[in-house]
Amino acid sequence: MKIAIIGTGYVGLVTGVCLSEIGHEVTCIDINPEKIEQLKKGISPIYEPGLEELMEKNREAGRLDFTTNYIIGLKDKEAVYIAVGTPQSEDGAADLTYVFNAARSIGQNITRDVVVVTKSTVPIGTNAKVRQLVMANLQDNVCAEVVSNPEFLREGSAIEDSFNGDRIVIGSDHKGAGDIVAEINEPFGIPILRTSLHSAEMIKYAANAFLATKISFINEIANLSERTNANIEEVARGIGMDTRIGNKFLNAGIGYGGSCFPKDTQALVKISEERDYDFHLLKSVISVNENQKTALVRKAKERFGTLHGKKIALLGLAFKPETDDMREAASISVARELIEEGAEVIGYDPIATENAKKVLPEEVQYVDQIEEAIKQAEVVFILTEWKEIVEKTLIFSNLFMEKPIVFDGRNCYSNEDLANLEIEYISMGRDQVTNVQERRVAAAI
Ligand code: NAD
Repeated sequence: MKIAIIGTGYVGLVTGVCLSEIGHEVTCIDINPEKIEQLKKGISPIYEPGLEELMEKNREAGRLDFTTNYIIGLKDKEAVYIAVGTPQSEDGAADLTYVFNAARSIGQNITRDVVVVTKSTVPIGTNAKVRQLVMANLQDNVCAEVVSNPEFLREGSAIEDSFNGDRIVIGSDHKGAGDIVAEINEPFGIPILRTSLHSAEMIKYAANAFLATKISFINEIANLSERTNANIEEVARGIGMDTRIGNKFLNAGIGYGGSCFPKDTQALVKISEERDYDFHLLKSVISVNENQKTALVRKAKERFGTLHGKKIALLGLAFKPETDDMREAASISVARELIEEGAEVIGYDPIATENAKKVLPEEVQYVDQIEEAIKQAEVVFILTEWKEIVEKTLIFSNLFMEKPIVFDGRNCYSNEDLANLEIEYISMGRDQVTNVQERRVAAAI
């Protein structure tokens, strides 16, 4: 099928590339000319494992191209996907400016009947407005129907997720339009769930709100475990074996970040307020997460009394491993608090450093090698569990630091990993410091 994708960000580009991989003819449109220039040269403007290779393969096969021009991009297309950003506005609601601009441009430039497919995460009722806007801007005697097709990919494994997702949700109040989107997706071989437009819009917010709730829940249990000498890993395993609970998303840590959970939970609270509904639970999830982001700073202050003048290495700046996305990364709150406390902050990330420079406080210094960060530091904070960081932090801290002390915000290591290492190790929901001290005392005796 001939498809246009509007927006070449994390979702739009991956969607375009994957749809071309299953045989569709895809044109990706973006208003950012630098991005399109790069894409035309075969360079991906974002870091996503496997993306550039798959993009090149399909470009060379003639199934994928890029343009800033809506007339060229929409020509002969049967389906037009909207995959532009829906960032958080100041009042917490989703900012729909980009979505509505895209809808207007679709109306102004289509010359045949199309199905408009919304991939962007949008509040309940938005797709109906998208259709109105497309129809109100038509220049030709054509028609558009809308389908909500929310995206569930995870940055860092977006390609893998696109081919192996749990479900594809297709929400439409127009059967024929829903059938076309089902046909487009059929080659993925992923179970398809057909719903109404409103249900599909709600599914996306409900899914993210539920996952965020799971994270805040396990983090509260971790905080309580620290105060009761329970071990959160054992607790998570114990509850996760109950199939009603499930063992995924039970990793205690310094909270969720990224381009989706923070803004989508805020937007759902706003959606509720607009319907005079007080979503108590979700508000608590958000405030628990805010507090959790800086848990390591509080732990370090408790340990040292003051952080003034302390050299602290932040390992992992992106909001999660395998991405260069810095949106709502925990490193932002942590770096700000540490700088306020008078600490010297050294930042290291395998991929996201250039993006980090744009959002972290200007006082942060950056190094290109993890060794450098650890060598310069008196204290190490693990913020993101990149493979390299997990593999090297203990070894290098033990090797290069005078008094190795690691605060691990992602619980990367087990007691066995720490055995025989003279490292003071403080993690989340586990009483590791006491264990290490005991070992040292035992060794001294
Ligand atoms: P992004 O900010 O990475 O990319 C958006 C792109 O849209 C940019 O390249 C921008 O230049 C382009 N754009 C904006 N207005 C345009 C217009 N009028 N015409 C053409 N291009 C335009 O955003 P993203 O992270 O890909 O997210 C897109 C949507 O998908 C959001 O609603 C988000 O909530 C949702 N989503 C994101 C993820 C994720 O992991 N990033 C996962 C699921 C859903």
